Amino acid sequence: MTINADPQELAKFSDLAHRWWDPESEFRPLHQINPLRLDWIDAHARLSGKRVLDVGCGGGILSDSMARRGANVLGIDLASKPLKVAQLHALEAGTASVEYREVAAEALAAEMPAQFDVLTCMEMLEHVPDPSSIVHACAALVKPGGWLFFSTINRNAKAFVFAIVGAEHVLKLLPKGTHEYAKFIRPSELAQWCRNAGIDLCDSRGLEYNPFTRRYWLSGDTSVNYMIACRKPS
Ligand code: SAH
Repeated sequence: MTINADPQELAKFSDLAHRWWDPESEFRPLHQINPLRLDWIDAHARLSGKRVLDVGCGGGILSDSMARRGANVLGIDLASKPLKVAQLHALEAGTASVEYREVAAEALAAEMPAQFDVLTCMEMLEHVPDPSSIVHACAALVKPGGWLFFSTINRNAKAFVFAIVGAEHVLKLLPKGTHEYAKFIRPSELAQWCRNAGIDLCDSRGLEYNPFTRRYWLSGDTSVNYMIACRKPS
């Protein structure tokens, strides 16, 4: 199986990995959006007691928080350093019921088909050569009736201005080169991949940011950052 990953993308995240849990670092946006996305996921999927897979988990900000809500979480990624940071954080913070593995989503889908109640794949699809293959693997990993959550960045002029010019060049929330415009994903494209993979789109939310108050909130505006919730038919 050829691996669906871009080595330069993985190196970018590995190079910054030691700062993953510093809430004032390059990962500040992930720390800030985490309570918002966690509550939204929990409201849909009721995490407590569920078997959860977090695809592209990085240093484990979302994985760890879902385990703290009572889920049994496996986080997977293909960058080794963020995974080590995630493991170390779980040890230090004493988070039980979270585990991390370096494995591709497609390979895990062959190994553990239909084993997870809930799957999250956040801020990751826009870093992968073939995101539709990830969506397909995710659909295979979830049990019938299970929930899947994806988040990414829309592709249009506003998203270019906010997510690249604004976030990387003006506000410097993210390092330059974090995102590549051509890899952004329109909600219609993501919805098509979900339909092709046999999962139903149930809900969506936009994530908006005010640079003056430095706060994020959920809204109905999916024109820049957005998340979708899907279900695999029972
Ligand atoms: N999902 C986490 C981290 C987002 S950063 C969160 O939202 O908090 C993007 C992550 O995707 C990085 O950890 C990077 O290593 C990972 N990634 C990129 N390409 C990948 C691939 N092909 N397979 C698995 N993980 C990948």
